[in-house]
Amino acid sequence: MTRTITRYSGLVEHYRARLPLTADTRAISLAEGRTPLIKLENLAREIGFEGELYVKFEGLNPTGSFKDRGMTVAVTQAVHEGARAIICASTGNTSAAAAAYAARAGITAFVLIPEGKIALGKLAQAVVHGAVVVQIRGNFDDGMRLVKEVAETSPVAIVNSINPFRLQGQKTAAFEIVEALGRAPDYHCIPVGNAGNISAHWIGYSEVSGFETAANVLTAELRGYDRSKLVDNRPKMVGYQAAGSAPFMRGGPVRDPETVATAIRIGDPQSWDLAWAVQKESGGWFDECADADILAVQRRLAELDGVFCEPASATSLCGAIRDIKAGRIAPGSTVVCTLTGNGLKDPDIIVKGGLQGVVEVPAERSAVEKALLARLG
Ligand SMILES: *Cc1c(COP(=O)(O)O)cnc(C)c1O
Repeated sequence: MTRTITRYSGLVEHYRARLPLTADTRAISLAEGRTPLIKLENLAREIGFEGELYVKFEGLNPTGSFKDRGMTVAVTQAVHEGARAIICASTGNTSAAAAAYAARAGITAFVLIPEGKIALGKLAQAVVHGAVVVQIRGNFDDGMRLVKEVAETSPVAIVNSINPFRLQGQKTAAFEIVEALGRAPDYHCIPVGNAGNISAHWIGYSEVSGFETAANVLTAELRGYDRSKLVDNRPKMVGYQAAGSAPFMRGGPVRDPETVATAIRIGDPQSWDLAWAVQKESGGWFDECADADILAVQRRLAELDGVFCEPASATSLCGAIRDIKAGRIAPGSTVVCTLTGNGLKDPDIIVKGGLQGVVEVPAERSAVEKALLARLG
């Protein structure tokens, strides 16, 4: 008996021809990618948007964020080159992904995180996958500087997004979006921290639409893979930052970035030049959102459309809603917002915001019925 195996085994195998990996490179994968593109019916109606509003829910990747897309390719290549250990600085999600993929590869992960400033779920992930967790008394930017210094003398491969294979993996999200829509959206809205992901999406969109991009010139050494054209258009890329951590709005590094959206609490983005090239080439823009607005949108999305993302992720939708209402995003257009990570990583933020809907009653039928009636009327 013969049978056909159709199991999806991750984006390295699925997109191998479109990635700068040699045919004999063994994939280190957790079947990441293929995340849903969810149409926001209720929220679009609430804001009176006539176009199509989608979220790409990257929180459904194996470790709960888009970092898995970059990590599978970065770790695959690092292991191919003989690495026994990887290292990264992280606001949480990179460390979770690095820890999981290192476990899968049977190598060591060293992760540098800012003490007390990462969501508890992310710290738990790094620990459970057996990473060596180095908590530094400093912020992400300090960690990034230290990682670069240490990697000069130690036999460790850096898997932050300055590793070009990270962006190569993350560009596949753009491939999935054009496959789902049959074209690129008119606008792609995305949270910006280190600015690797906005750059990666632009590389992806540019490759499948046959356009040149400075982002590709900067990674020119990685050429030699399939870049055949699938669609005719590219989106305007719109990058949103948290107001207390918005170097792209200030025109330079922010010394002490502060925001509830800890995943984008980054004052000195590593992909600074790339991201500015993306903004110029795409005709998009950067803007910022207040913490209170980000948290309100995180809740509203969960209440109205059943999608629970982490605070940093809600920044893209928060900005998009504002720019739709202001008419800056054209009426009738197709908009995709990346939801970068899963809300379950950071339940504290919801608990702190108040447990609305939670009522306490005696363990008696009448009391429970009364609680129901109070709501049903
Ligand atoms: C890493 C991360 C970001 C920021 O992505 P960059 O590539 O650093 O701009 C946004 N949201 C979440 C949840 C992340 O983990």
